[in-house]
Amino acid sequence: MLLLIPGPVQTRPEVRAAMAVDIAPWDRDFAPEYIAIREKVRDLAGGVAGRHVCLPLQGAGHFITEAAVRTFVPPGTGKLLIPMNGAYAERMARLAREAGRAVVALPAPDTQGVAPEAVAAALAADPSITHVGVVYSETGSGIVNDVPAIGAVVRAAGRRMIVDAVSAFGALPFSLSEQPEVDAVVFTSNKCIEGLPGIGFAISPVERVEAARGNAQSWSFDLADVYDTAQRAGWGSFRFTPPVQALHAFGVALDIYLAEGGQPARLARYRENCRILYEGAQQLGLRPYLDWEHQGPIIALFHQPQVPGFDLQRFVEALKRRGVLISNFYNTEAPTMRIGCIGHVGPDEMRFALNALRGALEEMGVRRRDAA
Ligand SMILES: *Cc1c(COP(=O)(O)O)cnc(C)c1O
Repeated sequence: MLLLIPGPVQTRPEVRAAMAVDIAPWDRDFAPEYIAIREKVRDLAGGVAGRHVCLPLQGAGHFITEAAVRTFVPPGTGKLLIPMNGAYAERMARLAREAGRAVVALPAPDTQGVAPEAVAAALAADPSITHVGVVYSETGSGIVNDVPAIGAVVRAAGRRMIVDAVSAFGALPFSLSEQPEVDAVVFTSNKCIEGLPGIGFAISPVERVEAARGNAQSWSFDLADVYDTAQRAGWGSFRFTPPVQALHAFGVALDIYLAEGGQPARLARYRENCRILYEGAQQLGLRPYLDWEHQGPIIALFHQPQVPGFDLQRFVEALKRRGVLISNFYNTEAPTMRIGCIGHVGPDEMRFALNALRGALEEMGVRRRDAA
């Protein structure tokens, strides 16, 4: 089965095979492996030894996002501005509100990245905003927010930033050294690094973590406690049982990623995947949700064909019978279908998927001129 969903992604056989081992997380053989993963991840984020740290947390992307919000946005005095241009921005807002943090929503269309000027204006209008929470690649619509440009206005305004880079990290460029306004950039093992799900990572400046002690109002979600534990018990230690096989497999995926040429190579492959899909789907009569200039490289959305009786779940089943699995839900107001361009897939797989799309559309009685 070819997985074209925006996580968990298609993985390499070597990565999956790495799961098939028993490991004691605290074993002295595993600690150096874990330490090396943390250092590689820190370096990948543009971090520097002694100045930045990698703070892993068991669980899904929502968990590491919640942990970053709880740890860095202080209760009571903190206020988080979030440009609301997609489903994952909504999710960050919900995580923050349910953690009792004040949230200011900045409304923005989900068909293009938010304008840095709009963020600057919102910050100028409310001096009590302490942080900006931004989703780098908005997996709900496929757009990319310009994190370096937004960061520049946050920096100029003397505020802090939290970056949800869950579907961006490893593919889109990012550097903590060049963005000192960032308190945390977060991502998970199962998207652009092409590992298995199970663990999230935050990368943060040391002095910000040290200043964040006592903020989290939660032991599980306290990244300052993850840091303090590492200081006390070593960077190869865990607070709670980790998904140790997923971590081991992530290490394998990370080494493959680096050997393949790292971020520029991954971005180039995903861009090409996306271009093949975007153009090919249009030839089948599907209408893209985004203009090409706003289309990010991670996921592409197409409007559902305007024919009576079109049903997304039935369409997904028809595609599945042809060997391709896409999302069976969408987060846009208009009915769309979402097709991932990430994972261990290349041009051949995208062309295979286009053939499957053609077959599934025919099976559902969608003629080319009806599709859009
Ligand atoms: C996938 C994703 C998440 C996290 O999703 P989980 O299901 O919790 O792993 C968060 N933000 C973005 C932008 C994502 O694409």
